[in-house]
Amino acid sequence: MLNEEQRERYERNILVPGFGETGQQRLLEAGVCIVGLGGLGSSAALYLAAAGVGRLGLVDSDVLERSNLQRQVLHTTDRIGMSKTESAAKTLGALNPDITLQTVRVRVTEDNAADLFSAYDVVVEATDNFAAKYLLNDVCLEYGKPFATAGILALSGQALFVVPGQSPCLRCAVPVEPVGVPSTSEQGVLGAVPGILGSLEAMAVIRYLAGLWNPEPDGGGAIHSINGETMRWRSMRFPRNPACRCAPLWSTS
Ligand SMILES: [Zn+2]
Repeated sequence: MLNEEQRERYERNILVPGFGETGQQRLLEAGVCIVGLGGLGSSAALYLAAAGVGRLGLVDSDVLERSNLQRQVLHTTDRIGMSKTESAAKTLGALNPDITLQTVRVRVTEDNAADLFSAYDVVVEATDNFAAKYLLNDVCLEYGKPFATAGILALSGQALFVVPGQSPCLRCAVPVEPVGVPSTSEQGVLGAVPGILGSLEAMAVIRYLAGLWNPEPDGGGAIHSINGETMRWRSMRFPRNPACRCAPLWSTS
């Protein structure tokens, strides 16, 4: 049961048709692990914390630099040199003292990923490199963790939400890690781009936790993208790939 303060804090969530107190209760009982507290992680974490996800794992190994502040809105100028986990915990704790924050200052690897994720219901991939995105995809498939993933560069970005066994994975859409793609440290990124894509990740996670997510009847998935040069949105449908490593997870019935 929600207390009075929670009813007041989460009133606008609760009023949403189909969400209600049940949806809010589900969020409060859930745990989400956010990997990366940069541009994508900033907006994802702010909205997940504000919405009342009961337990947030904050994973990052970096310290805050001045050049991060143009897009990483979790952090503030006076915290340059501070670990991003500590800075994120300060911001999110002030935003919503009703939730539990668990900071883990490590870089996610094949060896620690499973341990890190086991205590959470959903993972938010908010890293800045393809190697980490594919690693998280594969670990989440192995342990059946739903996850949100996104990528950004310059004026554009894409996002995808995966429920292993119920929707296609990142490798179904792009089977192997792309090579030769420039990074944001080479081609830049406007700060609002990760703001949008990280918010999209948060929204996918909140929908899933509140019980508003359903698999597509044909088992397909969708990559949502924004092209900031034309300001056009697109949702590209894609099927599951029977040759993908996620195929054994699909129900045959
Ligand atoms: Zn797949």
